Amino acid sequence: MPFFVVDIALPLPLRRTFDYLPLDGESREHYRPGQRVRVEFGRQLLTGIVLGCKDDSEVPRNKLKPLLERLDDEPLINEDSLSLCRWLADYYHHSMGEVLEHMIPTMLRRGCDLSEADERVWIKNDHHPVVKLRGSKQQALWRLFEEEQDEWPHTELTGLGFTLAQLRSLMEAGLIREEQKLPLPVVVTELQESHTLNAQQQDALKTLSDKTDEFCPALLEGVTGSGKTEVYLRLIENALQQGKQALVLVPEIGLTPQTVRRFQARFDVPVALLHSGLNDRERLQGWRQCREGGARILIGTRSAVFTPLPDLGLIILDEEHDGSFKQQDGLRYSARDFALVRAKQANVPILLGSATPSLETLNNALTGKYLHVKLTRRAGNARAPGMKLHSILHQPLTAGFAQPVLNKMYDHLHNHKQVLVFINRRGFAPLLACRDCGWMAECRHCDARLTLHHYPPHLHCHHCDFQQGIPAICPQCGSEQVEGIGQGTEKIQDELQQLFPDFPVRRVDRDTVRTKAAFDDLYNDIHDGGPCVLVGTQMLAKGHHFPDVTMVVILDADAGLFSSDFRGMEHSAQLICQVAGRAGRAEAPGEVWIQTLYADHPQLNLLLDSGYHALALSMLQERQAQQLPPYSHMALLRAECEERHLAQQLLQQARAYMQQWLQNQHAGQKASPVNLLGPFPAIMERRNGHFRFQLQMYAGERRALHRLAYVLTRYLENEKSLRKVRWHLDIDPLDCL
Ligand code: ADP
Ligand code: ZN
Ligand code: ZN
Repeated sequence: MPFFVVDIALPLPLRRTFDYLPLDGESREHYRPGQRVRVEFGRQLLTGIVLGCKDDSEVPRNKLKPLLERLDDEPLINEDSLSLCRWLADYYHHSMGEVLEHMIPTMLRRGCDLSEADERVWIKNDHHPVVKLRGSKQQALWRLFEEEQDEWPHTELTGLGFTLAQLRSLMEAGLIREEQKLPLPVVVTELQESHTLNAQQQDALKTLSDKTDEFCPALLEGVTGSGKTEVYLRLIENALQQGKQALVLVPEIGLTPQTVRRFQARFDVPVALLHSGLNDRERLQGWRQCREGGARILIGTRSAVFTPLPDLGLIILDEEHDGSFKQQDGLRYSARDFALVRAKQANVPILLGSATPSLETLNNALTGKYLHVKLTRRAGNARAPGMKLHSILHQPLTAGFAQPVLNKMYDHLHNHKQVLVFINRRGFAPLLACRDCGWMAECRHCDARLTLHHYPPHLHCHHCDFQQGIPAICPQCGSEQVEGIGQGTEKIQDELQQLFPDFPVRRVDRDTVRTKAAFDDLYNDIHDGGPCVLVGTQMLAKGHHFPDVTMVVILDADAGLFSSDFRGMEHSAQLICQVAGRAGRAEAPGEVWIQTLYADHPQLNLLLDSGYHALALSMLQERQAQQLPPYSHMALLRAECEERHLAQQLLQQARAYMQQWLQNQHAGQKASPVNLLGPFPAIMERRNGHFRFQLQMYAGERRALHRLAYVLTRYLENEKSLRKVRWHLDIDPLDCL
C-alpha cells in the first residue's frame, strides 16, 4: 500500500495540525475529512478530527506515531462545516482544533456515539385495532397520540403524569409501540393566529421576501414593540413552506419562555432549543435533531450558530447589537459576523433585527451593503413612551430620588400600575468606607473596591468573586464609623419599601434570580400581580414584556456617559432605549424619567429629542473623523501575568516585532497600513491577581491587519521566553477596557 499520513486537528491551542500514521491495513479511502479519531499526544489521549491525507510528512517517518482508533465511518461534520471552521481559524487566528470543538457537542468530543442521544419513545401504530379503553387516564393518554402527535418521548409523558403501567396497557392493546430513538422536539398544537400586519410591517415583509434563495443580508431597524418579531415569524413561515429550516439567534438574556412559546405557538413543526442551560445529553439531542432535519426551527443563543442545518433557508439574529453575541474567552468570535459568513456560504438570506443597531451594522445598511428596512411606529395600540431628563444638580434627593420623580411614581402605583427602577449596580452599596480616615474596602486580588451586600451580609468583589466578612471597625484607624457609600439595588429596595409601604418593592438582579426557573416564577408573579415597584439591573432590561409597567426610572445613566471606551456612549444609548422600551408596551402609555447631573449633555439630549437613529448618525460622524471602527478595523493584543513587568514586556516585544515586520514589508511607503497603540495597562490593571496590559492595532484595510496578525500569532506562539505570560489576540474587540 502506498505510504500516506493522516492530517489531524487536535484540541490544542497550537495553530497547526498533526500527522499520524493510519491504522494497519487501512487505505486512504478509509479516511475522510470530518471523521473523529483517537490519538496519543505526549501522554494525553485526544479526540481529533481528520482533515485529509497527505503523501508525506515533514516529520521523519520513524518519529511518526500511528493513530489509535478511528471513531467514525461516515464523517461527523461535512465539508461545508469544515470550510466554515477554516474561515474561523483564519479570521480569528485561532487553532483549528479548538475551533472544531465548537462544532461538535461535548459528548461526541469525548468519543461517545451518536446513538447516546437516543431515548425511549412511544409511537402510535399505523394500523391499530379499534379498542374501547376503560380507564379515563388511558383514554387521555391515547388522545394525546390521536390528537396531538404520533410520537412521544417517554420522559415527556411521565412529566405529564402518565405511568409506565398506563403506557404498557396501550401497548398491549396494540395501539402504540416502544422504540429507542432520537426524540423529536415537542410540537405545540394550540396554534396562535398571526396578526394582520400593519402597513409598515407589510412593506418590510415585501422587501425582505423578495430574495429568499440567495445570500441577502438585511437590517430590520424597528423601535421596541414595532412588531419585528411578527415580521420574523412571517419570513420563517415562508421558509418552512419551501421545506427549509430556520435558524433564530437571540441574546443570552432574551431566550425567555415567552419568546420560545411565541415561536412554537405559530408553527406546527418541531422547534429545537439550544442554550447554556442544557446538559450535555440535551445538547447532543438538539444538535442531532437539527443535523438530521427533524427540527425545522432552531432557536438558540450564541453557540447555536455552529449547529449543522442541512436545509438551512433563513437566519434571523435578534437584538444584533447585543454584547452576548461576542464570546469573551477562548475563540473570541462574533456570532453575528459568523452568522453572516454562514448565510453567505449557504446562500440564504440573513436578517439582523434591532431597535438600536450597532454602528457597524448601521453603517453597512447605510452604505447599501445590507438591505435596510425600518419600522418606526409601535404595532397595535401601544404608544411610544415619553422620555424626560430630570436634572438632579443641586436638588435634594430622598433615597437617591428627586421629589418630583417620587411623586410621579406614587401616581402610577395609585393607578394600579407598575414602576420599574433601573440601576446597574447589584448589592447594597458600591463601597464600604471609614468616615474618620477615608479607608475603603478593596479587593485583595483586583484594583477594585468591594461591594457591600446586606442579604446576606458580606463584602463581595464583582470582578473576581472574592468574598469576606464586614469589618466592625476600620482596620486602619479603629473607628466604628464604617459604612456603605452610594446605592445598589438592595439599598434602593429597602428605602423605597419604607417610602411606599403599601406596595411591594421587588428586586430583580443576579442575587435574587439565580436560575432561569426563578426568573420565570418572578416573571409570572409580576405579570399577574397588581401595582408594585421593580428594582433591577440589566436583567430587567431585555426582551421581557411587562404589560403593566407604565413608568421607568433610570437612576444612574451618568455612569455610562463618560466611559473611557470609545463605544461607551453607543452602549449607554442602547441600554437606555432598551430599558425605556419596557414602559407602555400594552395599551397604557408609558413615561421614562432619567435622573442626571448633566441635563444638558448634548448626546443625551439628541437621544431623547430625536431618537437613537439620529444619535447613531452623529456618533458615526465622530467615528469617521477619528478613524475608529467601523471606519477602521481593530485588533487587540492582551497580555496578563502575575508579574507586572512580564506582561508589559511581552507587549513591548510584540510591538517591536510588528514594527520591524511592517518596515520590511512596506519599506518606502510613507504611512504604515497598521497603526500600533500601546502597550497600556487595562482600565482595571490588576484583576484576580493578574496584571493586564493591551496593545491596540488599527488598520484601514482588513487584509493588512490580518497579515500582521498572522505573523504575530506565529511569532508569539514560538517564542519560548514568553511562556509565563498569558496572551490572546481579540479580533474586532467589543471593548478596550
Ligand atoms: P418587537 O419584536 O419589535 O419588539 P413585537 O413583534 O414583539 O415587536 O410586537 C409588539 C407587540 O405588538 C406584541 O404584543 C405583538 O403581538 C403586537 N403586534 C405586532 N404586530 C401587530 C399587528 N400588526 N397588529 C396588532 N398587534 C401587533
Ligand atoms: Zn478609619
Ligand atoms: Zn477581585
